[in-house]
Amino acid sequence: MIEIYHLYKQYGQNELYALKDINLIIDRGEFVFVVGPSGSGKSTLLKLLLREILPTKGNIKIFGRDITRLKNREIPFLRRNIGMVFQDFRLLNDRNVFENVAFSLRVIGTPPREIRKRVPLTLELVGLKDKAYKLPHELSGGEQQRVCVARAIVNRPAVLMADEPTGNLDPVTAKEIMTLIQDINIRGTTVIVATHAKDLVDQFQKRVVVLENNQLVSDQERGVYFNAH
Ligand code: ADP
Repeated sequence: MIEIYHLYKQYGQNELYALKDINLIIDRGEFVFVVGPSGSGKSTLLKLLLREILPTKGNIKIFGRDITRLKNREIPFLRRNIGMVFQDFRLLNDRNVFENVAFSLRVIGTPPREIRKRVPLTLELVGLKDKAYKLPHELSGGEQQRVCVARAIVNRPAVLMADEPTGNLDPVTAKEIMTLIQDINIRGTTVIVATHAKDLVDQFQKRVVVLENNQLVSDQERGVYFNAH
């Protein structure tokens, strides 16, 4: 589903490489943690997968297509298939939970009837059925992150990516959010989570890809987050 070959990223000619010779294959339905210290290239990798930035060298194939060669008008179709969750939530603060989730459907022209059906189902899935008409500031951090997860999956993307999704949460809430992401994976969505939350990674026992010094230094099934902190 996702194939990365000899991927390099250098932000500027005189900059160090943010990623060096990354090779990685992620199959449909997998759950992969990407771990490594701050600055090791985790966010860069996710941004490359979303085609927010282009690599300096190398190829990225998603659903069989080399996304480094997409035309600008083709990029929205890629992004519809990848839901994204951020550390800092990025909710629309003047809109309620329902509207925050509905927004991702409205921008792609989903009919209102479909929106009225799909948003409540997704809110129920993330455990926010009773909070649809709350504003973001009326929610806890964990609830706000659940809204972000709902927004990311309401369009039923093939892939869910999260960049430090638990970075702003206490350990108990962090585990709840990671459990929710795991549930979404179990229902069939491929999941990639970039994090340096060592304890969580160790608890969930998933595939762990370790970046260190901007290189991929380890890739283990049911791994633990050793050596990288
Ligand atoms: P991580 O997510 O693991 O903290 P990043 O992918 O954010 O790592 O960063 C990897 C490297 O790329 C770092 O050295 C960082 O300073 C550099 N970098 C990230 N974004 C930019 C940018 N927009 N311009 C220049 N350098 C950048």
